[in-house]
Amino acid sequence: MTDKTQQATFADLGLIPALVERLEVLEYSQPTPIQSHAIPHVLDGRDMVGGANTGSGKTAAFSLPILQKILQQGESNARRGNFVSHLILVPTRELASQVAYNVKSYSYHLRDKIKTVAVFGGVSVNPQMQALRGGCDIIVATPGRLLDLVSSNAIKLDQVKTLVLDEADRMLSLGFTEELNKILALLPEKKQTLLFSATFPDKVTTLAQHLLNDPVEVQLQSAEASTLVQRVFSVNKGEKTAVLAHLIKQHQWRQTLIFVNAKNACNHLAQKLSKRGITAEVFHGDKGQGARTRVLEGFKSGEIQVL
Ligand code: AMP
Repeated sequence: MTDKTQQATFADLGLIPALVERLEVLEYSQPTPIQSHAIPHVLDGRDMVGGANTGSGKTAAFSLPILQKILQQGESNARRGNFVSHLILVPTRELASQVAYNVKSYSYHLRDKIKTVAVFGGVSVNPQMQALRGGCDIIVATPGRLLDLVSSNAIKLDQVKTLVLDEADRMLSLGFTEELNKILALLPEKKQTLLFSATFPDKVTTLAQHLLNDPVEVQLQSAEASTLVQRVFSVNKGEKTAVLAHLIKQHQWRQTLIFVNAKNACNHLAQKLSKRGITAEVFHGDKGQGARTRVLEGFKSGEIQVL
């Protein structure tokens, strides 16, 4: 990374005033490193493999050039049947909502020109079908629900010009390989493909080699990685919860994320923490979408201390 790229503005990267002005409103004063490195190449139409975590600003890195392409081409598939031009594939419902939210916020002032739809499982398919009626410019999708919508003819993928695979490592580790291959087979040969992943196990590298055409490679550490402190506590099994509760109380930790290895363990731990006066909620695959959204909102607002 050179100082020059660090200091570049969004306009220096080649973004048009319609987008630069919107970023000013959103108070994005400077591009993040992944944005500085990726945006010019993506605007040039290059394929890209990016090593970047959530928090690096990768959503804007891939979506701003897509928005620019739509604006410059001045055409909208939304007016031409049930096609989509730009497909962003993500591994989870939450990420689909979050990415679509960001894309919509970057194009809020252009909402009569650019139509973005999020589709994901765990919620009723009908509103999503309705939203797709007449096609759209950008879809942010989880693989399974996208295939359901393709098989019911709610959307066609044969006009896709850009494919983004976001969090490719999680997509493959969550077992989406089969769905992903089905989707790839439905896409046109000629397209721009951007693959982002936090880690590069063999599966991801193989996928990138198979999918990308002479890609630009951008590898960056996320901002969080350098500020994260890791500590190990050696305790007896029966004392884990007591130590955890003690640490949370002693340090007055707010917005604490705890990862456990099973849904049951998750439920038990939350109950035990609640008994000790700590507001804890669970978040796992057995929870419906409504509950998941409520819990996340509570966690974000600080009402829920431990997730
Ligand atoms: P992401 O890694 O794409 O999930 O982005 C992480 C967060 O950083 C999101 O809340 C973005 O809105 C925010 N963000 C992305 N790029 C910038 C920027 N250049 N300046 C300020 N905030 C940003």
